[in-house]
Amino acid sequence: MINEIIEGWENYIVKTPLVEAEAKRRAKICASCEHSKNDFGVPRCGICNCPLAMKTRSMKSECPNPQDKGGPKW
Ligand code: SF4
Repeated sequence: MINEIIEGWENYIVKTPLVEAEAKRRAKICASCEHSKNDFGVPRCGICNCPLAMKTRSMKSECPNPQDKGGPKW
């Protein structure tokens, strides 16, 4: 968990084309997800509460959507 958070922050600070392309793909999915929340302009996942700008940039992370609700969306 902590490794995923650190990786997300690292990739947020130092951007690479490969990670940005994947983050963009994930962000599009999150934007239409019923669990997506927005607190004062900061989008976060309503299941794990992670800020989506970092979560979508952690290549080790997986969407936490539960199996009984269709499983990970990305
Ligand atoms: S459940 Fe998955 S798709 Fe939905 S907001 Fe969280 S990370 Fe994004």
